[in-house]
Amino acid sequence: MPSAEGDGAAAGEGAASGAEGAASGGAGGEPLDFAALGPGVWVELSVAADIEAVEAVSEILTRFAPGGTSVEPGFGLTNEGLGAVVDPTKPAIVRAYLPGLDPAGVRMAIAQATIALGHLQAFGLRPIGELQTSLVREADWAEAWKSHFPVLRVGRRMVVRPTWRHHRRQPGDVVLSLDPGMAFGTGLHPTTRLCLAALETLADEGLVGPARVLDVGCGSGILAIAAGKLGARDLLGVDTDPIAVESTLANARLNGLTRRIRVRQGSVPTGEPPFDLVLANLIASLLVQLAPELRGELAPGGRILASGIFHDREGDVVAAFRAAGLQMGRRWAEEDWVAIEAIAV
Ligand code: SAH
Repeated sequence: MPSAEGDGAAAGEGAASGAEGAASGGAGGEPLDFAALGPGVWVELSVAADIEAVEAVSEILTRFAPGGTSVEPGFGLTNEGLGAVVDPTKPAIVRAYLPGLDPAGVRMAIAQATIALGHLQAFGLRPIGELQTSLVREADWAEAWKSHFPVLRVGRRMVVRPTWRHHRRQPGDVVLSLDPGMAFGTGLHPTTRLCLAALETLADEGLVGPARVLDVGCGSGILAIAAGKLGARDLLGVDTDPIAVESTLANARLNGLTRRIRVRQGSVPTGEPPFDLVLANLIASLLVQLAPELRGELAPGGRILASGIFHDREGDVVAAFRAAGLQMGRRWAEEDWVAIEAIAV
């Protein structure tokens, strides 16, 4: 494991040096050493892309990489370098991995990805870097991805700490320890951050403390765990993805919340007694579709915190929530994403 191990102070540096530690060979503009390909070797494709272009670049790399892509946002350091926050003005790095067992396939994927990325440039999206390639050996692999997750501060007092990093707690900090594993929800995505910040505001108003909370689409469990750390008395996480259920359970254990959190595979309706607070970081189309079911989970006066809404879909979600009998509350926005509060009156 590279330099990042257990060193919160090196959060920013770790993200860069760890990646290099795991890779060898033709990083940067150098050609890839095809002779080194073989079993146990992977080819990392990476592209630096402005935040607006990340989705399109991911889509292209996914065509060639069976395992999908990862996105490392641009970070800025805070707190004298002890913490890091996502800086949307800095380019993100999109990565994908090709099996080195198939050199011809690798050659073709690189050629085709280069062409597709060139086409994307022609659309006039904001800057996209050149396709970079490097070799990653499987022996280093299991640990390599960890270096891409720094300790993150969200809102005023929430701290998302990957389990392999240390954080020097400051007065008032609410520290969430997370092992993101394979499930979405590391606190890095703007939609998750919006929800965490909104949750913090609700907590300040005493709306989380005594609440029964439902987290729909719990992913890594980050939102349910945050609500638990902010004092919620009873939590249920549901997710259609079994990996998310595992991940949420593991993270609940890490945070000492197993007594208060239950998790199960599925969705709404839950068939449970009504909740005071429903967290739903889903995409807009799902929020629209599930609006009546989400409303159905609420106790009188209960509220939904809905996130994952791309800005141009906000109107649709608001209309669906109103039609389901909800009253709109506050809204929070970051980059192109919106989170809204809706209240059962
Ligand atoms: N709550 C986490 C994860 C959000 S990602 C966070 O805020 O970071 C959205 C999650 O919703 C995914 O884990 C996905 O598996 C889950 N999901 C998708 N459709 C769903 C549905 N109909 N019901 C419940 N969960 C769903």
